[in-house]
Amino acid sequence: MLTIMIKLSKGMAKRRVSHGARPHLTAELDASKLRVTKALHPSKLPLAEELAFGSHTTDHILQVRWTADEGWFAPQIVPYQKLALDPAAAVLLYGFEYFEGMKAKPGYSLYLRLVIIATNSNLGVTAPTAALLYCVACPVGLYFSAGFKAINLEATASAVATRAWPGGAGNYKIGGNYASCIAPEKAAKARGFQQLLWLFGDDDRITEAGTMNLFVVLQIGDEERFKLVTPPLDGMILPGVTRDCVLSLVRERLAPAGWIVSERDICMTEVVHAAVAGKLIEAFGTGTAAIVSPIRTIKYRDRLVHCGLSRHQNASAITALMKGWIEARQYAVEEHC
Ligand SMILES: *Cc1c(COP(=O)(O)O)cnc(C)c1O
Repeated sequence: MLTIMIKLSKGMAKRRVSHGARPHLTAELDASKLRVTKALHPSKLPLAEELAFGSHTTDHILQVRWTADEGWFAPQIVPYQKLALDPAAAVLLYGFEYFEGMKAKPGYSLYLRLVIIATNSNLGVTAPTAALLYCVACPVGLYFSAGFKAINLEATASAVATRAWPGGAGNYKIGGNYASCIAPEKAAKARGFQQLLWLFGDDDRITEAGTMNLFVVLQIGDEERFKLVTPPLDGMILPGVTRDCVLSLVRERLAPAGWIVSERDICMTEVVHAAVAGKLIEAFGTGTAAIVSPIRTIKYRDRLVHCGLSRHQNASAITALMKGWIEARQYAVEEHC
């Protein structure tokens, strides 16, 4: 964990000039300086089935302070506690916040949420001069306790609601990208859809679904050959690690058997045509928490597009295969570097 945090921090360490003209190097994040203060009364691990995603945290939190003048302070693991922030802290006023999610451990999983916030207080909008990097660790049970659960999406045109736009920051996990999605998502939930499929542009290009990258499997012509299509990294989607993992696995293991893998624009009309022609074989979303989420239907304008699952099926072949392959890597059943 600290190694990852160190990598993140490397980009922030910089040479500064202070105390007259004497240059000094600000401190880098140094894992060997870690100090641990244990909680006096550790709590018991609840049963896996009681652990709704994100409902519990571990007894400890990892924190590292940073200032522009000093660089990184010694990392600390301390009993889980509330943060004390100035009400004028830049994170509260202007949303300087960035996060990342990771997962460890089979059976139960340990979800790691790394966050960095700007803690300096200043009513002016300026680059942060102080920050706190911390990691909240949450024990979680299986993401979907009853195995796969196919979801229904509602496609929303960018004229109605937009999550990201060209030249924006939709490809970063920054706080501000998420709050604005809640109102349209809530409205979609009230109509019976679990998540939104965010479209963009007049041609209704697919971007991503909720907080997942999106994939479709299409049959090529009348042959037993398939293509895997996902929108490109054009700055408007989150470049997910699970997306990357699926792409590399399919390129490595299915492309030799004739699969075509493309990262390209795909419009809803193409998906509708494929579904009507019986060539939309599967659709699924990818993200760290669920790994892969099979998609049953997509509501688009006045149509309900069926994505290849039969009524009693909750996942089809490729989605299930991907989950197995990715878990084999995560649990080190299979070596991968
Ligand atoms: C986190 C996230 C994803 C998935 O990324 P992973 O790295 O695979 O977890 C996709 N879309 C959005 C908007 C996200 O925040």
